[in-house]
Amino acid sequence: MAKKGTKAIVVGGGLAGAMAAIKIAEAGYDVDLVALLPVKRAHSVCAQGGINASLNTLGEGDSAWEHFDDTIYGGDFLANQELPWKMVKAAPGIIAMYDRMGVPFTRTKEGRLDARRFGGTKKRRTYFSGASTGQQLEYALDEQLRRLEAGGIFGYGKLTKYEYYDFQSAILDDNQVARGIVVLNLRTMKLEVMKADAVVLATGGPGMIWGKSTNSIENHGTGAGSVLAQGGHYANGEFVQIHPTAIPGTDKLRLMSESARGEGGRVWVPRDLKDKRAPETIPEKDRFYFLEEWFPAYGNLVPRDIAAQSIYKICVNMKMGLGGENKVYLDLTEVATGIPEKRLRKRLGAILDIYEKFAGTNPAKTPMIIYPGVHYSMGGIWIDDNHMTGLNGVFAAGEADYQYHGANRLGANSLLSATWAGLYTGPKMVEYIEGLSSHYTETPEAVFNNELKRIEKLYDGYKNSSGKENVFQIFDEMGEIMSLYVHISRNEEGLKKASEELQKLQERYRNIGLNDKKYDNYNLELQMAYHLGLMLNMARVITAGARERKESRGAHMRTDFTERNDEKFLKTTKGSLDKDGNPVIEYEEVNVKYLKPRLRNYSKSK
Ligand SMILES: Cc1cc2nc3c(=O)[nH]c(=O)nc-3n(C[C@H](O)[C@H](O)[C@H](O)COP(=O)(O)OP(=O)(O)OC[C@H]3O[C@@H](n4cnc5c(N)ncnc54)[C@H](O)[C@@H]3O)c2cc1C
Repeated sequence: MAKKGTKAIVVGGGLAGAMAAIKIAEAGYDVDLVALLPVKRAHSVCAQGGINASLNTLGEGDSAWEHFDDTIYGGDFLANQELPWKMVKAAPGIIAMYDRMGVPFTRTKEGRLDARRFGGTKKRRTYFSGASTGQQLEYALDEQLRRLEAGGIFGYGKLTKYEYYDFQSAILDDNQVARGIVVLNLRTMKLEVMKADAVVLATGGPGMIWGKSTNSIENHGTGAGSVLAQGGHYANGEFVQIHPTAIPGTDKLRLMSESARGEGGRVWVPRDLKDKRAPETIPEKDRFYFLEEWFPAYGNLVPRDIAAQSIYKICVNMKMGLGGENKVYLDLTEVATGIPEKRLRKRLGAILDIYEKFAGTNPAKTPMIIYPGVHYSMGGIWIDDNHMTGLNGVFAAGEADYQYHGANRLGANSLLSATWAGLYTGPKMVEYIEGLSSHYTETPEAVFNNELKRIEKLYDGYKNSSGKENVFQIFDEMGEIMSLYVHISRNEEGLKKASEELQKLQERYRNIGLNDKKYDNYNLELQMAYHLGLMLNMARVITAGARERKESRGAHMRTDFTERNDEKFLKTTKGSLDKDGNPVIEYEEVNVKYLKPRLRNYSKSK
C-alpha cells in the first residue's frame, strides 16, 4: 500500500528527476512529476558520448579511487569531496542498473560492455550506446516511470506526470517549510497550486542565459532562479563549461561530442595561416596538432577547460584560426585517424549525421569545423550534503545543483552525477518527509492561496503591461552581453561592463509590453516574461561571482589574474540577492577531506 496523506513533487524529467521520482515511488510515496515538455524530451536525451564508471570491463585496472582523483583534479579541486566520492563508488552499480533496464550499451565482440576514453583520464571508463547515450538512458527511465504511472505495484507509490507545466515558485508555510509549488499550466496559461511535503528541483542547466549554447530551449535555469528569488543561494555560478567542440551556428550551437576525440579525432589548424589547400590534402607535416604538441601526455583528450582555452589561444591570441576566423578543424577522417568510415559510423553515427545535416559535409571525408561554445554549468543551486537547498523541504538534483564538478566537469561525468543525484536525493526526501511533524494536508489553505496570489499578481502585471520593451529583445541582448564578457576569457573591465549592462537591461525589463494578448494557450511571450526576470537575476549573480573571483581556476579564466589562488579562493561561491535584488557574494570552505589540492599539469601524466 502506498503511504497516504503525504506526497512529493519532482520538477524535471531528465535523468536526475526521473531517477528521484522512481526512488520516491519505490519507497511507497506518491509522486507528482512536473516538466515543461514530455519527459522523453528532457534535455538529457541530447547527451551523446557516454557515462563514466570504473567498471573496468576492459581490464585496465581502473578503480573508483582513480575515477575520484581524475574528477577532483579535473575540477581544479573546487568540488566538495564527500558527495563525489560517494558518486564514483556508486557508478559501476549505476551502469549495471541501466543494463538491467535494457539500455542497449555498445559491446565488444566478446559481449562485454565496451568503453571509450574521455577527457582528463587515462582509462577507458566511458560506457556508451553509439553516440546517443543520453537518449537510451532517458528512454529506459521513462519506461520505469510509465510502470509507476500505471500504478498497482504492491508497496509502491503512484506516479502522476504533469507535462507542459512550468514551475514558478515553492510554497513556503509560516515556518518557511515547503508545502507545495505554484505552476503555470501551459495548455491553459492558468496558474495552479500543487501540494506536497517535499519538492526536488531537477530543472537542468541555465545555458539559455548565454543565448547561444549547445543546450535545449528548456534550459533557462529558472528553477535555480526561483530559489534565488525566494532567498536561497546559487553556488559557483561563474563556473560555466565552454565545450571545446561545437558547430558554430547562427541559431544555436550544436555539440560535437568529446566521443569524437575519444574515438581518435584530432584537433588542428594549418601551420601556415595562409595555407588555402583543402584540409584533407594538407600533409601531416603542415598541420599543427596543437593539443598533442602542448599536452603530450593527454593530447586531444585534455579536459574541456584546457582544450577550449587552447583553441581560444590559437584563434584569438595567436590569430591562427581557419581563414583568420574563430574556427579550427576536428578531424575524424581516415587520413588523420586511421579509422575506416564503417567503424566510425558504427560508433559515432548519431553525431556524424548531425554534422552532415547542419554543416553539409561528411566528417568521415572532410575535417569538421568547430569552435568552443557554452555547454554545461558546474555551478548550481546551493545544496547541503543531503541535497537540500537553503529552503526547507526544497531539494535540488542534477545539473541544477553544484556539488560534483568543482571548477570543470570531466566529460561523461554528468549523466553519472544526474543519475546518482536522483538516486541519492529521492531517499533523502523520503527521510525528510518521515521526520516531519505535520504534513501539507494540515497546512492552512491561506498558505497556498497567498503564494498563488503573489505569482498571479506578477502575471497580471505582465498581461496589463504596455511598455515599449520587448521581452525577446532583452533576452537576446542578455545573451550577447554574457557571451561577450562572461565567457571563455574574462577580466575586470569586461565583467564590470557586463554588470552595468545587465542592470540597464533590468531597468528596461520594468518597462516591457507584451504583444501576444491571447492568454488561453501556450503563450511563449507571457512565459518568457516571467523567466526573463529570473534569468536576469541569475546573470547578475553569475557575473558578480566571476568578478569577485580574482584568480584563474578551471573554466574561470581571467586574463588579469592568471594563476590559481588557493589561499584566497579555494572556496565555494555562494550568491544570493539582497532586498533590492542586487547580488551578494559570500564564500564557504571547500571540503578537501580525501585529496589535498595540487596544481594541474596535463603536459605530463599524473
Ligand atoms: C548536446 C549535449 C550532449 C551531452 N552529452 C553528454 C554526455 O555524453 N555525457 C554526459 O555525462 N553529459 C552530457 N551532457 C550533459 C548532460 O546531458 C546533462 O548535464 C544532464 O543530462 C542533465 O540532466 P538533468 O536531469 O539534470 O536535467 P535535464 O535533462 O536538463 O532535465 C531538466 C528537466 O527539467 C524540466 N524543467 C526545467 N525547467 C522547468 C520548469 N520551470 N518547470 C518544469 N520543468 C522544468 C525540463 O522540462 C526537463 O524535464 C551533454 C549535454 C549536451 C547539451
